[in-house]
Amino acid sequence: MEERDVIVVGSGPAGSSCAKALRDEGIDVLVLEKEVLPRYKCCSGVLFGQTQALVRRYFQAETPASIHCSPEVIEARNVREWGAEYGYRRYPLEIAKDGRCFSERYVNVWRNLFDKWLLELSAAECRDQSNVRGFGEIADYVRVRVDESSENGQESVRGYRCKYLVGADGGNSIVRRLLTPQSLGVGNGIAVETLQSYFKLESLGLLNRDAWTVFFLPEVGEMLNCVHQKDEYLVLSVGGLAGRELKASMARLRCFLAEQFDVRLGDWWRNEGCQMQIAPPYLGRGRVLLAGEAANFVYLNGEGISAAIDSGYRCGKAIAQSFREGKSALPRYAENSMDIVAHVTKCLSQARFLASQVA
Ligand SMILES: Cc1cc2nc3c(=O)[nH]c(=O)nc-3n(C[C@H](O)[C@H](O)[C@H](O)COP(=O)(O)OP(=O)(O)OC[C@H]3O[C@@H](n4cnc5c(N)ncnc54)[C@H](O)[C@@H]3O)c2cc1C
Repeated sequence: MEERDVIVVGSGPAGSSCAKALRDEGIDVLVLEKEVLPRYKCCSGVLFGQTQALVRRYFQAETPASIHCSPEVIEARNVREWGAEYGYRRYPLEIAKDGRCFSERYVNVWRNLFDKWLLELSAAECRDQSNVRGFGEIADYVRVRVDESSENGQESVRGYRCKYLVGADGGNSIVRRLLTPQSLGVGNGIAVETLQSYFKLESLGLLNRDAWTVFFLPEVGEMLNCVHQKDEYLVLSVGGLAGRELKASMARLRCFLAEQFDVRLGDWWRNEGCQMQIAPPYLGRGRVLLAGEAANFVYLNGEGISAAIDSGYRCGKAIAQSFREGKSALPRYAENSMDIVAHVTKCLSQARFLASQVA
């Protein structure tokens, strides 16, 4: 059985920033990722002001042009909702944290390339095609069971032993579900699902190329819908409570865009879907900590990468401190992330995401 100081489950922004904080302190960390890297993620891939500031602060870097897509910058004033009765109005996707102002020039990136770039900056070792299936705390360590697949399709099971396990495995986190078995299924929160479809763009019609447009359309689906451009593709997003027929919502959104805005779409390229849990933040138990969406750090109005980076980094710092001082990491993590918990809670209470919430 392989031994590591820390195992991080998931190579998204939360996992990479946790790994970065640990590597900065010289701690041995292994990131396990179930997909083949670089992996796509259901996300609009817009880096808000706060996210850009956190990337600078924790990774000392600016995103390179090679991971950007056009339009490269989306101005905050161009993030707008449209309604037949009122036309366009601003839609505040980013809610200021601690009263601080961040850049209002949002950067449009390919999420697969952004996540790969962050992971490389962390300088942590990562094994992809490693699906964490279970774990158990035994005395002062955690045993982890992982299903591995190789390029020729062969499956094998591998066991690890670590001092801390970090679940940074996203909104449908298996680490969180195993820690809180009552949340299997819908459980202790509301589960929502989203679907994104990428279509080759033939004509934007009346839509603005440099904008991110949000619609609340009960006749299309129960959650907000949004549309924005990524290079030669138009990305359409729909959502609803878990179990809803999102493909039907997607078809209705396509018709609406054609009829109302004269948008013409060409070939379909890809679908991405994901599930999230709307529940109070939960940071873990004992030697198993959670970060990012796995910890329920979810902003329903569109942002999420910033909370993932911030919580992941602080989780890593708390573990590093616990190694130095010989004390448990969880109370430190709870203390150093109180402001993130407060901000996510505030954003969730202010988020308008259901079509029935049109003001
Ligand atoms: C439709 C939509 C649009 C969005 N647009 C934006 C946006 O424009 N800007 C923004 O800031 N936020 C946006 N978000 C939110 C953002 O995508 C998430 O908040 C962010 O990705 C969370 O990061 P994370 O690291 O916590 O999890 P993730 O990015 O989900 O990463 C989790 C990783 O864990 C891996 N994993 C899962 N299970 C296992 C397992 N068992 N073993 C090993 N690995 C595993 C996954 O494959 C994945 O790579 C959007 C979300 C949605 C749904």
